[in-house]
Amino acid sequence: MSTPAEGRIVFEDVSKTFTGRAADTAALRGVSLEVAPGTIYGVIGYSGAGKSTLIRLVNGLEHPTSGRVVVDGIDVGSLQGARLRTAQKRTGMIFQQFNLLETVKVRDNVALPLRLDGVGKTAARARADEVLEFVGLGEKADNHAGELSGGQKQRVGIARALVRNPKILLSDEATSALDPTTTGQIIELLRSINREYGTTILVVTHEMDVIKDLAEEVAVMAAGEVVEQGTVLETFLHPKADITRDFVTTVIPQGIPQRVVEHLGGDGLWRLLLVDDQVTQPLVSDLITGIGVSINMLHADMTEIRDHTVGQMILKVTGTPEQVAAAHAFLEARVAHVEEVV
Ligand code: ADP
Repeated sequence: MSTPAEGRIVFEDVSKTFTGRAADTAALRGVSLEVAPGTIYGVIGYSGAGKSTLIRLVNGLEHPTSGRVVVDGIDVGSLQGARLRTAQKRTGMIFQQFNLLETVKVRDNVALPLRLDGVGKTAARARADEVLEFVGLGEKADNHAGELSGGQKQRVGIARALVRNPKILLSDEATSALDPTTTGQIIELLRSINREYGTTILVVTHEMDVIKDLAEEVAVMAAGEVVEQGTVLETFLHPKADITRDFVTTVIPQGIPQRVVEHLGGDGLWRLLLVDDQVTQPLVSDLITGIGVSINMLHADMTEIRDHTVGQMILKVTGTPEQVAAAHAFLEARVAHVEEVV
């Protein structure tokens, strides 16, 4: 697919303060980030970090207190009235609680944005059926939304968000109310929308599992600020901020019980991360036969991170100081990350 020309989102030093009767809340403080057209960008943070506020600025549901949110060259915060509504049509949004009309037929839920735009009933319903087919719910068009499972409801929510053929899809904790299997299916659907239509997808979530399967890039937020951003793989391999490490640990549990660390302690207790081809190399036997150290393998696991395989090993390497140093140099050259376990 060629690079889509539309769907770029740029946050330029954006702050948002909510003015309250008792006190003001600084929901966002100097946020700058750029979402390239046709990419899937994840924003992760704990509750209250400012994620919903950030995403709501993109479709003009909130306006920045200072700074600019620029979507395809248009400063969304400066728009009002008809110009704002026109810009909003370029953006679809999905929610944790689906926000469907439960007693209305699925087809009419999906057709609703078009009906509000003044599209005739027949044309709006025909388009709704087309999108429902795409999300795999064609046969449920005549059911009431309230009759569907959570996963099916979110598919309807996605169909409704896509019905105007938006360049950007905003996802506010869209999988947080779903079980892991259904979450996986919704993630796959979002990826297929991105692949087939080149739709830019901005996802906010508190689940690192969602980031690892869905996003190409990630920003980590805490207390209204972006504390770290980068590609998802790089963020998993070399997290910098403590909060990023905490999120990464939910996917790749780091380490071994502290009692074992204290028992084995000292030099040569290392945690390794290996990527793709590195996971299949005969690392341990090369260390033993090539350098002459002995190895105590304490832990090993493997996970998939956005089309990459990431392996983790925790080893205790024993030998002369020279051998241990040589083993360290060898590993530095052969794996993505080596760190001492303390
Ligand atoms: P998150 O989505 O990461 O949970 P939010 O963006 O919802 O975070 O909230 C960030 C902060 O802004 C919180 O302290 C929240 O209470 C506050 N906030 C969000 N929306 C409003 C609002 N409409 N009025 C006042 N405070 C708000």
